[in-house]
Amino acid sequence: LFNLTLAGLPELELFPCTESRQTALWEISNEVSRPRARDFWLGVAILAGSAAAAFLAVRWLMAVVQWPALIERSLPVAAVIVAFAWVLRRLHRRGMQQALREKLLARGIPVCRSCGYLLHGLALEPGRCPECGRPFDEIVRSILEGE
Ligand SMILES: [Zn+2]
Repeated sequence: LFNLTLAGLPELELFPCTESRQTALWEISNEVSRPRARDFWLGVAILAGSAAAAFLAVRWLMAVVQWPALIERSLPVAAVIVAFAWVLRRLHRRGMQQALREKLLARGIPVCRSCGYLLHGLALEPGRCPECGRPFDEIVRSILEGE
């Protein structure tokens, strides 16, 4: 499951070796088993909102078009399930990207917290990510100073 939803995350390629990547993933899996309450409820709210939106969209579609009775009954349920699964995967990937960036920074690899861009070898001035424009924070500055 872990590898399936994380397939293709660019942050995974930035670790210096397989072992440090495995260690980071292991650390993260321990941390996410006790998420902060605010993040948890935010995730629940986003999931519930998306499922409700999918349900309403399908209901609207049904008012516009005449469907066979079987589809009328099953489509709203299917829409809610698909929306729920899709949003859950998106949230999981986003959360993992944030966590992986923190792990990279902790290992002295300068990545942008906002977009994951590798900041190796960049000058401290003007001190912004060339990809998204986020100002370097303290940890990025200290890594780049030591390079
Ligand atoms: Zn950036």
